[in-house]
Amino acid sequence: MSPNPSPSTPPPGRRLYCNRTLNMRAIKAIGFDMDYTLIHYHPEAWERRAYAELRKRLAERGFPVADLEFDPGAVSLGLVLDLELGNLVKANRFGYVHQAVHGAVRLDHVARRKVYGRVLVDLAEPRWAFQNTLFSLSEACMYAQLVERLDQGRLPGPLGYAGLYAVVRSSLDAAHAEGELKAEIMAAPERYVVLDEDLPLALLDLKAAGKKLLLITNSEWDYTRAMLAYVLDRHLPAGQTWETLFDLKIVQARKPEFFATRHPMFEVVDADGRLRPLVGRLRQGGTYLGGHAGLVEQHLGLDGEEILYVGDHIFADVHVSKSLLRWRTALILRQLEEEITALEGFREHQAQLDAWMAEKTTLEERQARLRLALQRAELGYGPAGERPKPELQAELQRLRSNLEDLDERIAPLAREYSELVHPRWGLLMRAGGDKSHLARQIERYADVYTSRPSNFLWQTPFGYLRAPHGGLPHDPAPQAGAEEA
Ligand code: IMP
Ligand code: MG
Repeated sequence: MSPNPSPSTPPPGRRLYCNRTLNMRAIKAIGFDMDYTLIHYHPEAWERRAYAELRKRLAERGFPVADLEFDPGAVSLGLVLDLELGNLVKANRFGYVHQAVHGAVRLDHVARRKVYGRVLVDLAEPRWAFQNTLFSLSEACMYAQLVERLDQGRLPGPLGYAGLYAVVRSSLDAAHAEGELKAEIMAAPERYVVLDEDLPLALLDLKAAGKKLLLITNSEWDYTRAMLAYVLDRHLPAGQTWETLFDLKIVQARKPEFFATRHPMFEVVDADGRLRPLVGRLRQGGTYLGGHAGLVEQHLGLDGEEILYVGDHIFADVHVSKSLLRWRTALILRQLEEEITALEGFREHQAQLDAWMAEKTTLEERQARLRLALQRAELGYGPAGERPKPELQAELQRLRSNLEDLDERIAPLAREYSELVHPRWGLLMRAGGDKSHLARQIERYADVYTSRPSNFLWQTPFGYLRAPHGGLPHDPAPQAGAEEA
């Protein structure tokens, strides 16, 4: 087992970031999602494999896909498919479209304004399909590639952009549900899984502190059993297995419906996964299939605010459990680590960019005041100016050229920033200078977010996570030197 890292000094990429204050002592039970939460995969390897299954199914339907390949550079988490226009878009926190791609072609500023000038992304509308999880990458990539072929009239049947999405969606669903994909992962987990040796200790700490640990996954029993044994058993103390860690295990939970609909529950009665309908209440240490969150609350005798659910799926894991049941929520976002590293690496350039932007603001203010003085002088109204018109005009000319110089210096740095981590789509949590739509979803529905569940090691089971004071544009600027104090 790995040594416990110092509780006070997590690297920035491994911190827990807090949207709403969370007192870990008040949490009595912690539910964990499995895929991309307790188990992290190499997204490229997994998605390339899922893409191959998807391609096979589409080929069986007569789609011309044999030459297509998964392209991780084309897609990213948190993008939105526009099913009306067949585009892949990235939106900011208000829903304004910041970037858009049709097939492989990026819409330039003018085209984007024409198409999206009056349109806001609203995820409640069926027009938009949000890419909630890393499992969505293969789907988004295939959809964008097939949009081109649909435009060229190469796809069978009458099919619109929304119809095409339905075909891709159902084919990927089938690929996940049928055994081949999972059988391959189970046969060679080392090719797909990124082990985290801090995880077992983090779970042992939480359990020993008296918290009930729950597993609530959409995965099947045989896959869950094989994969959790692979990632956890090797690091657990003698005599313990992943199964003894969890007070309750629920597979094929059908989240998000698990949090919304009272589906029947079955007990898994042996290692082979034989089932019998649940009779009476849940049993401590039991393994179940299906059911619903109400049964869990009843079994634990706890209210929503005493249960923390930790998962990676923005809609199925945190949005629904938070909105319907008011469970406390933690979102796992592994890419936070590279995102934070990239921002650290960009720190000096950012300082330069900030300084130039401040200079630009000052020059633009001077420019605006000069233009007003010139307007008054030309039209002969307002207070009499002291400077003659030619002088004002000459200064305006100088300012214009200074601003052009400045823009030339700013442009390469701004481009570098927009290509951090992902050359096409940039940082997950940002859309230009603003928060991305993904960041907004996280802010709304996740009480905390962090790169991996093992980061609870540093927080300890007794920590008190305080949300930062919510900043507003009119807040007084921090005093110079206040940061160092
Ligand atoms: P969880 O994250 O532990 O709840 O498990 C996610 C499960 O959902 C895995 O078994 C995935 O194979 C499965 N899954 C992911 N994406 C899809 C999909 O698009 N359709 C059907 N199943 C999916
Ligand atoms: Mg998951």
